[in-house]
Amino acid sequence: MPRKLAAGNWKMNGLRASLAELKTLEERHDDASVDILICPPATLISACKDMLFDIGGQDCHSATSGAHTGDLSAQMLADAGASHVLTGHSERRTDHGEDNATVAAKSRAAYAADLMAVICIGETLEERESGSTLSVIDTQLAGSVPDAATAQNTVIAYEPVWAIGTGKVPTLDQIGEVHAHIRARLTDRFTDGAEMRILYGGSVKGSNAADIFGVPHVDGALVGGASLKADDFSPIITALEKA
Ligand code: PEP
Repeated sequence: MPRKLAAGNWKMNGLRASLAELKTLEERHDDASVDILICPPATLISACKDMLFDIGGQDCHSATSGAHTGDLSAQMLADAGASHVLTGHSERRTDHGEDNATVAAKSRAAYAADLMAVICIGETLEERESGSTLSVIDTQLAGSVPDAATAQNTVIAYEPVWAIGTGKVPTLDQIGEVHAHIRARLTDRFTDGAEMRILYGGSVKGSNAADIFGVPHVDGALVGGASLKADDFSPIITALEKA
């Protein structure tokens, strides 16, 4: 089985001074038994490229180059030092109207640039309350995850939209139900679907990480707010190492 993964998404946060947090994290986890990925703003990728951690972009364009002002290609992220890229984060889906086909195209662009795609999926509160969570997950998996996905080029992040940045976390049973469902879909569709890592994301903190990591088919976490400070992210990494 691949190593578990603790991934941090800094979103639109972080200046060069914030690299001190990563230095501290590096000192505390220089021999980590789990993979650690940091997705800083793209402006900091090249400054992070010599760190011990894997570095990822937060988004990429589906094209290699061209007239797309303000966008970055997967190849540019790789050139700057990234090894991963998030695709389909709910904030991209909501703020930029990205649909499943767009997310799949971005993920294929990631593969073409030799980046690992961390493909994000998850239901809204309305979808959860109307009982359609699993069918939403099915649609997102079918539409956002390319046929070329393997355990070597893809990580799935299950992030209920209503849990991102809200402090609300699904019950462990709810997380377990969705992760088992995703695992079943991945093994149905991909020969190595049993090895594809499935992260949970949404208000993960040091105080709830160990319980979440005890849920079957949770292979790590995608962490937003609590990844910004070494003191907050470090206990999550330690909990994953102990899981
Ligand atoms: C995220 O941004 O992917 C996320 C899960 O954020 P938070 O941990 O702050 O809920």
